Amino acid sequence: MEGYVHSIESFGTVDGPGIRLVVFMQGCPMRCLYCHNPDTWKPKIGNTMSTDKILEDYESYKPFLKGGGITVTGGEPLWQIDFVLELFKKAKEKNIHTCIDTSGITYNPDNKEYIDKLDELMKYTNLVMLDIKHIDPEEHIKLTGHKNDNILAFAKYLEEKNIPVWIRHVTVPGITMNEEYLYRLGQFIGTLSNLKALDVLPYHDMGKTKYKELGIPYPLENTPPLDKKDAVKAKKIIMKAIKDTKNAQKTIQ
Ligand code: SF4
Repeated sequence: MEGYVHSIESFGTVDGPGIRLVVFMQGCPMRCLYCHNPDTWKPKIGNTMSTDKILEDYESYKPFLKGGGITVTGGEPLWQIDFVLELFKKAKEKNIHTCIDTSGITYNPDNKEYIDKLDELMKYTNLVMLDIKHIDPEEHIKLTGHKNDNILAFAKYLEEKNIPVWIRHVTVPGITMNEEYLYRLGQFIGTLSNLKALDVLPYHDMGKTKYKELGIPYPLENTPPLDKKDAVKAKKIIMKAIKDTKNAQKTIQ
């Protein structure tokens, strides 16, 4: 099967455990204001690549991919779920660790055909890195152009399936860098029993040049990058809420 692949990174170190082959899939329905990959938005453009070719690439880099595996990211990899399913099925035959880095936006509990595919895909998935963009429904729409109900439902779906999850959250001054929102996010994450890690990333504006090249106005022109120290503070707030939520659950039990 061929998929629309934006690019491949041979030695990824931030998209899952170990050193990984990272496949950036083309196409994303979201429009996050801070997106640094706007060149991945349009679906069905650019190069196609077969699942076999990706596995061949993996094999050629294998001696260097210590403790790693394959991560699909994007764009939104689950927009091409058939392709990811075939890739991961073949990867598991070779005992390769598999990870999906997703915003969860394509999850739709009412679409039985999609859920059947997702159920199948989860059999071949070792880890999901789920980007929760904003915990507040209204603010989520402002930030991404989409509602967050299905994204949060996707997190609960992963918990039901017992799929290990890393949550990722980008802290943006004036948007998500807000004590109340961070605490509420932590309260939600605290209900998940499958949480393996939490990455809180400071907003950066390194994608600006891509917007210029694409002729798209940069939406956060007046927003300064967030200091790493503030991302550490944000993580502490989320972690406190996770702890409080877990303690409250214990008390109820
Ligand atoms: S989900 Fe990711 S790729 Fe899509 S717009 Fe948001 S940041 Fe960009």
